[in-house]
This record gives sequence, structure tokens and C-alpha cells, in this order.
Amino acid sequence: MKKSFSRSAGWIDRSLKSVWHPCTQMQHHETLPLVALKSGKGAWLFDQDGNRYLDAISSWWTNIFGHANPFISKALKDQLDTLEHAMLAGCTHEPVVELSERLSVLTGNTLGHCFYGSDGASAVEIALKMSFHYWKNSGHPEKQEFICLKNSYHGETIGALSVTDVTLFRDSYAPLIRNSNIVESPDSRHAKDGQTATDVANAAADKLEALLQEKSAKIAAIIVEPLIQCAAGFVMYDPLYLKRVRELCDRYKIHFIADEIAVGFGRTGTFFACEQAGIWPDMLCLSKAITGGFLPLSLVMTTDDVFNAFYDMDITRGFLHSHSYTGNPLACRAALATLDLFKNHNVIARNQTVSRQLSEALKPLEIHPRNKHFRNKGMIWAFDVDLETEKQATFPRRFFEKALQHELLMRPIGNTVYLMPPYILNGEEIGLLAHKTISVFEEMMKS
Ligand SMILES: *Cc1c(COP(=O)(O)O)cnc(C)c1O
Repeated sequence: MKKSFSRSAGWIDRSLKSVWHPCTQMQHHETLPLVALKSGKGAWLFDQDGNRYLDAISSWWTNIFGHANPFISKALKDQLDTLEHAMLAGCTHEPVVELSERLSVLTGNTLGHCFYGSDGASAVEIALKMSFHYWKNSGHPEKQEFICLKNSYHGETIGALSVTDVTLFRDSYAPLIRNSNIVESPDSRHAKDGQTATDVANAAADKLEALLQEKSAKIAAIIVEPLIQCAAGFVMYDPLYLKRVRELCDRYKIHFIADEIAVGFGRTGTFFACEQAGIWPDMLCLSKAITGGFLPLSLVMTTDDVFNAFYDMDITRGFLHSHSYTGNPLACRAALATLDLFKNHNVIARNQTVSRQLSEALKPLEIHPRNKHFRNKGMIWAFDVDLETEKQATFPRRFFEKALQHELLMRPIGNTVYLMPPYILNGEEIGLLAHKTISVFEEMMKS
């Protein structure tokens, strides 16, 4: 089923000359196909030649209701003719107010103040600056350091890289980056014989406590990806860890920043991943799926306590952070439509059925001898492929190419293959996705 890229070849050549593609060594595209997309509908993307691809990773985890979702599309068209954009300093508008209120209700009004940005990394930077400035305003200017987890990923701007522990993204820029305190990840794969995921979570939390005992006076916040460290290769862990972090943050007086940019919006089986631990952070970062993949938008939700520390007549005590498109009405409207879809279609409950069906269909992978740690949480599946050393470096690219030949858009991280499909898959698409993933994997194991 080798695809020919003949008609779209023109687009590909022009793209490779004029577009610098993200997270890519451009020279790899001398042999690796670039997909020249024309349109999308539901779970599928269509290229210039009329080939289709099931978007098995929701286009970098954003398109939870599929492409060209008609409901979000209609909401946007209405907003487009009303108010496309206005600055949010000194002005406000219905979409941004309604979105802030509705998200706040979803946290039981614990996180009642929303600060807006445009992408995930800027939300992370906002949270870090907010925590730092909170302590300064509260008479603790000495609290200047952050804690992040081993293999954490919080974005790729210079500030976000300071709490990102991914060598590949960090090392080239090391001299520019401020170091954070890196603590052990509660990665449940670390369980030794006789140990449970809960034991691993407790051991990791004990290590965090040891660090806090030593230097909490200097620490502003810990930032954590709740339940799953996605970019690290879908590291999953016991919710108990989040509970322990919450307790430790309270005891040692540091902020808890939850980065739900990847896991928020129902991905792990609850609307927010933190719900599974029964806790709320001091700051919650959201982006990616928030607009159903239609427009860039991010935000940080926070508590009255944090908000009040900035509330004053003195301008320098205010949170003087902004982006040009802060709170863009179109993006907020898309987010409101996304929330409507959750409510009107009982998405969290429906996903349980989809999750069960896809897990069942993926059974042959779960028991395959070349796979380790097959894991599933909500609408995420991942497994680690056992590879000869010399095949490791090129594995993601070769898998990507093979998947395209089977009408799948997939992008493994290292030797970890994952599925993070849109929630709207029907029965036939669930079967196709499982069947095609298994075929790609089996062919990869032969080559
Ligand atoms: C993607 C991601 C980010 C960064 O978001 P961008 O929009 O790519 O800047 C931050 N944190 C997590 C957990 C992410 O998955």
C-alpha cells in the first residue's frame, strides 16, 4: 500500500523551502514524507492526493472532537461576525467572562480567577512568574526556586525549559536556562518485584519531602503534570502522588502548579486529571484541547489567595504580564463550544465505552512479547517497544512513515508508541485504528 506523493510533490517542495517545520531536523525530509494536507473531517485528515489518514494523536493532542467539528465551527462563524478581537487590558467581553466563570464552576469555584495566554508554554511562564511574584508580594522574596519532576515537559520557551527535564530539548540551550530542583518521577514502571504503583508514588513523595525539609524556604512552587507525563513517553503514575504533593505544599508553604495542558479536558477519564486525586492545585495551566483544536488559547486558573496577594493600588504589586492576543474572543468562543459539547453529549461517560472497546481491540499488542509496559488511562494508550540499540534512533521516523502507508497519523516518542485519538471515534473507526496500529507494529518488527 505504498502511497505515491506525485501530485502533492509541488506543495512538499515549496514547504521544505519556505516553511521551517517545528520539532524537526529538516534534512530528514530528504527521505521522510511530508504530508501535504488539504482538509479534515472528523477523525480523518485528507491530503492533496485524496489519501486519508486517521489522526490517531489528535494533531498533537488538540483535536478532541475531530477536524472541522460543525458545532465549534458554527459557534466561531457567529462570533466572527460579532467581535473577532479586542485587547483585554481595560476591556472585557462576553466570551472571556463566560469561559472564566464556567471553568471556575468546574473546579467547584476553588480556582475562580483565570489569566489568559496564547499557548501552553506561555501559560507555564505565567504560572511561574505568578508564584514568584506572589511570594515577593507576601514578604518572602527569598522564595525564588522551582521544583519539577524528572523527565518533566512544560514547553520549550526559555522559561518553560527551566522546568523541563528533556535532554534533547534542553541541552543545546543549557547556558541560557535557569536550573530547577529536579525530583524523582513517580513513574509506575519503576515498581520492583512486590512493589505497587502506590509504593512508587509514596517513595517519590518521600524524596520530595526530604528536599522540602532541607530548602522549602527558598522554593516558590513545584510544577507537575498530573497523572501522566505525556511528552516523557506517557509516564503514568498513581494519583496518590498528587495527594501527597498537595499535603506537602500546604505543610511546607509552596505553591502547587498543575500543568493539565495535555491531560485536561477529559483525556484521562475525568474532566481534570487532578479530580482523580481529589485535590486542586494553586495554579492550573490549560491549553491544547481547550478550543477543540481550532485556535491557540491558554490560561492559568488560580485561587482567591493568589489573586488577593496582587490586589492593591500599587502598580508594581500587580501582575504585569500580557500577550497581544490575551483572551481572544474567537478562541474563547471555541472553548465555550468545546465545553458545550462536553455537557450536551455526556462526553466523559461516552469515553468510558470508547476506551473499553479500543482497549479490547488492542489486546494483541498488550500481550506481544516485543512490547513492555502496555498502559492505558482514559483515552490514552502507550507501550514501549523492545528495540535493538542500532534501530532506536530512527524508530520514530520509520514508524511515522509506515503508519502513513496504513492510513494512520502517528508520531512515537523515542521507543514509546502511543494513541491519543479524538473522542468522536465510531465503532468502525475504533476497529480500524486498532487493526491498523497492530499491522504497522507487526511490519515494523519484521523490518
Ligand atoms: C504541549 C505542552 C506544553 C506546551 O504547550 P505549547 O502550546 O506547545 O507551548 C506544556 N506542558 C505540557 C504538559 C504539554 O503537553
